[in-house]
Amino acid sequence: MALQNDKINLFDNGKLDLRPLIAGDIKEQHFICPFIHFKPDSHLSDIEPTQDVQMEGKITNTAGYIKLEAVVSLHYRTSCARCAEPLERTLEVPVEKDIALRSQLQDDDTDDYIVIDTPMIDLEPIAIEELYLGMPMRDLCSDDCRGLCPKCGKNLNEGTCSCPEREPDPRLAILSKWSDKNKQ
Ligand SMILES: [Zn+2]
Ligand SMILES: [Zn+2]
Repeated sequence: MALQNDKINLFDNGKLDLRPLIAGDIKEQHFICPFIHFKPDSHLSDIEPTQDVQMEGKITNTAGYIKLEAVVSLHYRTSCARCAEPLERTLEVPVEKDIALRSQLQDDDTDDYIVIDTPMIDLEPIAIEELYLGMPMRDLCSDDCRGLCPKCGKNLNEGTCSCPEREPDPRLAILSKWSDKNKQ
């Protein structure tokens, strides 16, 4: 655990100090950035974090190219999108980003970089953005979840219900009426 504490102590006001790395004193800086609070947007109302987000990885300096490689992880509770059974999930999003100091950028083409104004980097907004990008469209209890019966609401993973197997599609019913009429 001593190692982990060292990593945490690298942070100053939540920002990781990159000065030794940028100065070339060290070639890589490992870090664990814990305690990132994640409050999902309303469109993710079904996602309930059970722990703070953690970001763990390293920042390297290879001949002046500074690169962030990390994994952002989130533990959360949600429910199956088909059968509504409660689920616990862990999302792990790999992150790879180039970092550049604004003063060292040659041109205005900053799209490919995380641009920082000082040699301190705030990892929290990066972690949050990557979580949103990596969030699954929906969670299922299993890929072949059979969902709920649309008529009686029974969880069809637990057995079949006595509802008729298949309702006629109302659109087809209209179509067949129409074609009957045209036959007359
Ligand atoms: Zn399910
Ligand atoms: Zn049913």
